[in-house]
Amino acid sequence: MIKCPIIEREIDIGDCVVIVDVCDGAIKERVLGRDILEKKNWREICRACEYHDN
Ligand code: SF4
Repeated sequence: MIKCPIIEREIDIGDCVVIVDVCDGAIKERVLGRDILEKKNWREICRACEYHDN
């Protein structure tokens, strides 16, 4: 589990990979939950996150 700065709570590594893939345009945004999408700058936060390139 890692602490995701978008939602400020622990998430599974697998969930992180999916969010990163959406952020990078590899998967459609509709797979994400509202908790992520309602953060307007979630892509910016994800790109700057230390786990983004893991
Ligand atoms: S890389 Fe993105 S999805 Fe993964 S923990 Fe960081 S902000 Fe969250």
